[in-house]
Amino acid sequence: MQDTTLRHEELLAARRKHIGPSLSVAYDEPLKIVRGVMQYLYDEDERQYLDAVNNVSHVGHCHPEVVRAAREQMAILNTNTRYLHCLLVEYARRLCEALPESLSVCYLVCSGSEANELALRLAKTHTGGSDIIVVDGAYHGNTTSLIDISPYKYKGPGGTGAPPNVHEVVMPDVYRGPYNDPATAGELYAQHVGQAAGEVRSTGNKLAAFFCESLMGCAGQIVLPDNYLKHAFEHVRNAGGVCVADEIQVGFGRVGTHFWGFETQDVVPDIVTLGKPIGNGHPLGAVVTTPEIAASFDNGMEYFNTFGGNPVSCAVGLAVLDVIENEGLQEHALAVGNVLKAGLERLKRRHEVIGDVRGMGLFLGVELVTDRDTREPATELAKSVIEEMKNRGILLSTDGPLNNVLKIKPPLVFSELNADLLVKTLGEVLRRAVGRYGR
Ligand code: PMP
Repeated sequence: MQDTTLRHEELLAARRKHIGPSLSVAYDEPLKIVRGVMQYLYDEDERQYLDAVNNVSHVGHCHPEVVRAAREQMAILNTNTRYLHCLLVEYARRLCEALPESLSVCYLVCSGSEANELALRLAKTHTGGSDIIVVDGAYHGNTTSLIDISPYKYKGPGGTGAPPNVHEVVMPDVYRGPYNDPATAGELYAQHVGQAAGEVRSTGNKLAAFFCESLMGCAGQIVLPDNYLKHAFEHVRNAGGVCVADEIQVGFGRVGTHFWGFETQDVVPDIVTLGKPIGNGHPLGAVVTTPEIAASFDNGMEYFNTFGGNPVSCAVGLAVLDVIENEGLQEHALAVGNVLKAGLERLKRRHEVIGDVRGMGLFLGVELVTDRDTREPATELAKSVIEEMKNRGILLSTDGPLNNVLKIKPPLVFSELNADLLVKTLGEVLRRAVGRYGR
């Protein structure tokens, strides 16, 4: 059955029959996207959409260099890591070179969830601990153990709460959280991590790890306040735990000023997990850690991953790193991100419904509220804005615990003209929609 022959209704019906219903589809009228070129997606009628949300296609949908690397290696060999292969070692070396010196040992996996799952195992084996500290609103992946450390899921629909070994700390959100002064917020929010570490001690358990997204994605594009990770890491290390930076959303130059999100906090994690943009859409993930943690994990039980580190994935990963470097995409993310953020700030001055504009580089969030003083979330408005933006050819999505944050995280090739169009269109959509949904 050729997918391309089915139109919307038939396709939806077949999908409902054969695909698990917990996989959602975006938009009231779902899109059938059939091809992508850099920051653009095309539906079956060749209508073009500007993609402002798919951060996985980091260097652009179907970037020719990435496609070429995959195609060429696929035609030569694809097998597992039990044979020596130059690409495996070359890729691991390149990834480690992009990270602080202490992070020099790599495990290649096939998704962000696999990366965090392995990070959990590394942390538990290294420390001998069982307990994990997590940040409210965080998402770390889709496996049973990762749902257990993802407040976004265990507190959300269908969730059954955190298990006793998981300790949740308040989200370091200077807009909505208890501490709003940027000068002191980082340290104050981090004190909750210290308290959680104390809680672990008081139960007689041992802390294994603190998991933290370097900028938070599903939580609503939250930028951690200055010094948060510095203080949080200190509390965690004093309690014998290791610090895991989940870079799955934000790594590889997206934040513009730095290659990794954790670098904006001037810290060095013990374990870094990578995913999404790492393979530009090819299923790839990685865990990078210290030789000491890797040595603890080498306890006799082999770690084998059938597809992780295969030559095709390594060729793709290398091509992504090359493109980021050759096209100066980190610098580009900073320049275009600044233009876009300034445009969104201008909109905020004109539209009362914009409560907050935040983010770094091309990882931005616009929080919509019905009242700036009470910060009542404009959830319905946010949904209608996304729908109307899509009708006008621009793809965005919403997230955050209150589902009122517009998420902007386009492929890094997004241009200044694209940014101007997004701001102009969002302004028009807000002007029209606000009469219906809020002030
Ligand atoms: N961590 C973060 C921060 C994520 O955003 C995601 C995916 N949304 C994951 C982990 C899980 O990655 P994957 O879907 O590739 O398993």
